[in-house]
Amino acid sequence: MRYSAMRVFWEGLTGHAGWKPAWRNPEPKAEYDYIIIGGGHGLAAAHYLAKTFRKSRIAVLEKGWIGSGNIGRNTTIIRSNYLLDGNEPFYEFALKLWEGLEQDLNYNAMVSQRGVLNLCHSDAQRDAFRRRGNAMILNGADAELLDQRKVREMAPFLDFDNARFPIQGGLLQRRGGTVRHDAVAWGYARSADSHGVDILQNCEVTGMKIVNGEIRGVETNRGYIGAKKVAVAVAGNSSRVMAMAGLRLPIESHVLQAFVSEGLKPVIPGVITFGAGHFYISQSDKGGLVFGGDIDGYNSYAQRGNLPVVEDVLEGGMALMPMIGRARLLRMWGGLMDMSMDGSPVIDRTPIKGLYFNGGWCYGGFKATPASGYALAHLLATDTPHETATAFRLDRFQSGAMIDEKGAGAQPNLH
Ligand SMILES: Cc1cc2nc3c(=O)[nH]c(=O)nc-3n(C[C@H](O)[C@H](O)[C@H](O)COP(=O)(O)OP(=O)(O)OC[C@H]3O[C@@H](n4cnc5c(N)ncnc54)[C@H](O)[C@@H]3O)c2cc1C
Repeated sequence: MRYSAMRVFWEGLTGHAGWKPAWRNPEPKAEYDYIIIGGGHGLAAAHYLAKTFRKSRIAVLEKGWIGSGNIGRNTTIIRSNYLLDGNEPFYEFALKLWEGLEQDLNYNAMVSQRGVLNLCHSDAQRDAFRRRGNAMILNGADAELLDQRKVREMAPFLDFDNARFPIQGGLLQRRGGTVRHDAVAWGYARSADSHGVDILQNCEVTGMKIVNGEIRGVETNRGYIGAKKVAVAVAGNSSRVMAMAGLRLPIESHVLQAFVSEGLKPVIPGVITFGAGHFYISQSDKGGLVFGGDIDGYNSYAQRGNLPVVEDVLEGGMALMPMIGRARLLRMWGGLMDMSMDGSPVIDRTPIKGLYFNGGWCYGGFKATPASGYALAHLLATDTPHETATAFRLDRFQSGAMIDEKGAGAQPNLH
C-alpha cells in the first residue's frame, strides 16, 4: 500500500478500514540466503539489499521489537561534520541518503535539516573548527564558520555575558538536523517487508553454527535457522554476539543517557553543542528539549544510566543556557553504545567465511543509518566494501591504520 495525502483523505472518508499492518509477522523459514542480526542498521541493510541490490531470501532477526535498540533511543541528530578522510565521505553519503529517504521509503520520517551548530570557546578551538570546516567542504559537505555576533543572532538565549567559558563563535552545518528516530526504524522495516524481507521480532540469536571456518546458520530462541551469509549489526551487544563465533572485538559496551523536558514553545532553532563540556540540545516537534552528554563511563549491558552523569549533563546545560533550569524534566533513558578503540565503526568481513560485522558506532551511529545499511548491503551482495567505507576495516586495530577523529588514543570511553 502506498502512503499519500490522497490515501489519508480517502481513508478518512471510509472509516479508516483500509489500513494494513506496516509489515508482516512471519514464522522463521528453515533457511535464508542472508540473515541480518539486529533490527536497527540491520533494517536499513535489508532494505538496500532487497531493493537496490535485488537480493532475496533475506531475514532480519531482532531479539526484542523493532526500534527497541539504539535506533529508537537516540537524540535523533544527523550531520556530516567530520574531519578525517576515512569518515567524512561516508557521513556525507549518509546525509545525501537522508535527503532522499522519505521518497525512497514512501514514509514520513520527519527529516528536518534545521542545522547543527558546534560552539567554540577559545582561539585554539576556533582554529580546529576552521580546519574541520575546510575538510568538510573539500569532501563536498557544507560548513560555515560563525563569529559571536552571528551565533547571538541565531541563539540569543545562550549565556554570552556571564559565562565561565565565553562563546567565541561556532561551526554551522545547515544541512545537519534531526530525524524522527522511530519512524526511521518503521520506514525501513515497512519497505524491507514490502520487498519480501522476513522481519522476525522476538527472535534472539543464541549461537552460531560454524563448520570448517564457514558459517552455516544461527541458533535462536525460535529454533535453528540456516543461512549462506550472516551479518551482525547489534550495537552494544556486539561483543556478546561475536563471542558466539569465537571472535573477540576491540569494542566496549557503555551506557549513554538521553533526556527530554516538558513541551515548550519553539525556542531552540536547530541542534546546538557546547564546546567546553559535553552537552548537546535540540527541540522536538512536540516542544520537548531533547539533550544529552557523556556516556556513564563504565562497562554495562543495562539500558539505563546512573545519577552522576545526570548531574554532569544538567551542569553542562546550565553553563550554556541557564534558562534550562526552569524547565521540568519529562523523562530520561539509556542505550547501549558499542565504543570502539578509535571511535570509528567497522563494516567488514570477518575471519569466518560468510560472517560479516557492522558495529563500533559509539555516540554517532544514528546519523550513519542509511549509509551503514547501504554499505553493509553492498558488502553482502558484492563481497567488496562500498567506496565510502573502505577504511572501516576490522584489521586496522592490528595494522595501526586508526581513524581517530578526536585523537584520544585507544580509550573507548573518551571517543
Ligand atoms: C541516548 C543515545 C543518544 C544517541 N544520540 C545519537 C544522535 O543524536 N545521533 C547519532 O548519530 N547517534 C546517536 N546515538 C547512537 C546511535 O543511536 C547508535 O550508534 C545506532 O543507533 C546504532 O545502531 P545499531 O543498528 O548498531 O544498533 P541498535 O539500533 O541498538 O540495533 C541493534 C539491535 O540488535 C538487537 N540484538 C542485540 N543482540 C541480539 C541478539 N543476540 N539477537 C537478535 N538481536 C539482537 C538489539 O535488540 C537491537 O535492537 C545515540 C545513542 C543513544 C543510546
